[in-house]
Amino acid sequence: MENFSGKAIYKGVAIGKIVFGSKEKQQVRRTKTEDTAAETARYEAAKEKALEQLQGLYEKALKEVGEDNAAIFEVHQMMLEDDDFNDGIKDKIENQQVNAEYAVAATGDAMAEMFANMEDEYFKARAADIKDISERVINILLGGGGLSRLTEPSIIVAEDLAPSETIQLDKDKLLAFVTELGSSNSHTAILARTMNLPALIGVKIDKAWNGKIGIVDGCKGIFIIDPDEETIEEYKAVQKKDSEKRELLKNLKGKKNVSKSGKKIKLYANIGKPADLGSVIENDAEGIGLFRSEFLYLDSDDFPTEEEQFAAYRKVAETMAGKKVIIRTLDLGADKQADYFNLGKEDNPAMGYRAIRICLDRQDIFKTQLRALLRASAFGNIAVMYPMIISVDEVLQIKAIVEEVKEELRSEKVKFNENIEQGIMIETPASVIMSYELAQNVDFFSIGTNDLTQYTLAIDRQNSKLDNINDSHHPAVLRSIKTVAENAHKAGIWVGICGELGADTTLTQTFLDYGIDELSVSPSFVLPVRKAVTEAD
Ligand code: PEP
Ligand code: MG
Repeated sequence: MENFSGKAIYKGVAIGKIVFGSKEKQQVRRTKTEDTAAETARYEAAKEKALEQLQGLYEKALKEVGEDNAAIFEVHQMMLEDDDFNDGIKDKIENQQVNAEYAVAATGDAMAEMFANMEDEYFKARAADIKDISERVINILLGGGGLSRLTEPSIIVAEDLAPSETIQLDKDKLLAFVTELGSSNSHTAILARTMNLPALIGVKIDKAWNGKIGIVDGCKGIFIIDPDEETIEEYKAVQKKDSEKRELLKNLKGKKNVSKSGKKIKLYANIGKPADLGSVIENDAEGIGLFRSEFLYLDSDDFPTEEEQFAAYRKVAETMAGKKVIIRTLDLGADKQADYFNLGKEDNPAMGYRAIRICLDRQDIFKTQLRALLRASAFGNIAVMYPMIISVDEVLQIKAIVEEVKEELRSEKVKFNENIEQGIMIETPASVIMSYELAQNVDFFSIGTNDLTQYTLAIDRQNSKLDNINDSHHPAVLRSIKTVAENAHKAGIWVGICGELGADTTLTQTFLDYGIDELSVSPSFVLPVRKAVTEAD
């Protein structure tokens, strides 16, 4: 039994098998083989397994995100059975007497290049699919599981996890995360909280742990490898106590968020995709204060269509049945990268081409999202909010585009909420300083303390080396929140907090004193924050 320490980003205990998630692409070596028949049989077996995995993914996607999104896994199955692809591989094994993984890699690369050079955009995009199916088969041949292919409940250990990888993990099979890199406010950490998963960062990891039993102690920040029976029993008892505590919190369901002195605050939840709705309802949130719509884009191999987005937004609006649902428009860039956007490498991605900057530049993408959002607004209480705002001019540009989209919908006689509320995120120092002027032009503010801390303190939120000084309690951050609340109220608009700081119960009293009108937190924090509100003055 060995203990390793790390920084806990979500409390709780997980006990289970460790799966090492290797981020690097598996290295494929060319080796000579005499027994080409055995090598061909290895390929055939790996292909069958890949087809099974794809069928499983198709069924999961069908349930969670609908037929249109699931179709890609059917396409991958067809590509994997394609004659040219299969003949190319078998031909290389036979005639060049090479190992199966090399034959797959060489055939996949050649076909991907052929597609990439085609004129037609549709065929061009298939290059990524060919790479994906070849990597899947190669992973199987090399014995690597691949993170998205978990077969049993597991603790994921990885050097780092990108939000795009995390969102694709099968929530039912995830017990906890342990990573070496990452920081408390990274999007992967936020996802762990949304998924209710114990998680540790800053643990010096070792590939040899793969397959062993581990215990993640998200309270003390300890990762135990190969625990003895006594330790397992001890932690099972902690798990039982935790679930009893959670049961007690359930008594707060249906109760109001009112302090002892009668101050009211709205308590909403943050989500990344419609699948998180269960936990929103379960934890009795009054609404959704932040739907990070970019996760729809990260969970997809191509731009989600208007219909796909409409279906997701409508589902959330209808499930919340008249309660407020604030959908944030695409906030991609920096750590949230989707290959098909081809954003390229930047020296300073956090301060780079991201969020509203992309949307104002690529108005085709923005308008598709706005059409979907506006159409869905006919089915519930949807509000829209824009990320990374730095100026009134941006707000005016956005509003002009929204007007164009509304006009389009009117002329098509498509229903939408004409008075949809439009708010902005306050997450840059510029927006704090300009909050008085900005407040004259929008319906609400939502303070994104994760980025606001990053930009105010000049501390990259992704940088694990700076996690110890990445202090959201810094007076500069707190004073910014106070200023923003005052300026919002002067203009008669409401102001909320949707960054992680909103769930920090040591500040609940402070936020009530500042007059914050709404807090939006990960679903599992709704009831603990409600408790703190009811205990505050
Ligand atoms: C924030 O910056 O506080 C926020 C809520 O947005 P995100 O964490 O998605 O950047
Ligand atoms: Mg942000």
